[in-house]
Amino acid sequence: MIKYSQNTITSLNIKLMETKLFLEKFKNFSVQDFEHLTYAMIKPDAVVAKEEIIHDIESRGFTVLFETNRQFSEELARNFYSEHNGKSFFEGLVQQMTSGPVVVLILQKMGEIPCFQAWRNELGATDPAKAAEGTLRNVYTHKLFGGPEAYLERRATNCFHGADSVASVIRESNLVLYDIAMS
Ligand code: ATP
Ligand code: MG
Repeated sequence: MIKYSQNTITSLNIKLMETKLFLEKFKNFSVQDFEHLTYAMIKPDAVVAKEEIIHDIESRGFTVLFETNRQFSEELARNFYSEHNGKSFFEGLVQQMTSGPVVVLILQKMGEIPCFQAWRNELGATDPAKAAEGTLRNVYTHKLFGGPEAYLERRATNCFHGADSVASVIRESNLVLYDIAMS
């Protein structure tokens, strides 16, 4: 029989409570609130460096409002990236997104530019080989895989997601939080 320590059970309860509380709060967010929020993800390949990445995200001026590890089902991955359905990279993208848990992040940054744009500026270009030095897609491709060339030999993609408009922030956060709430 598996014995759980009191600590494990306590931290599990706190985690569950945080998710429930956040879902309650989320229901009351207005469109104006979403200007200051974004939906972000650490994709499965980089989850191993989650703690370091979250510190890095905070040091770039973002507040992590919500964070959880989540295994995407194939259905969720296809739905999440449905705008790319039919493109040459779509099946590979679905495969990557379901290859292990992702880290789901709801980030906040107050400022002149919408939060989704501020986050995409930190991400850098979609192709990690073209992502500017210092951007997340550049830095972690080097740290985790020894550079974009080595990584792209394995996977034709990148390790971070960012919604591309306020409408996408609303759509993507609703989609994933609904999936979490239903489980
Ligand atoms: P994301 O939506 O993941 O934040 P993005 O907005 O920079 O990335 P999109 O055009 O929305 O780029 O593509 C979604 C994802 O599909 C990319 O992050 C990448 O993983 C993959 N992708 C896009 N274009 C290509 C491509 N030409 N070759 C391989 N994978 C690609
Ligand atoms: Mg995109």
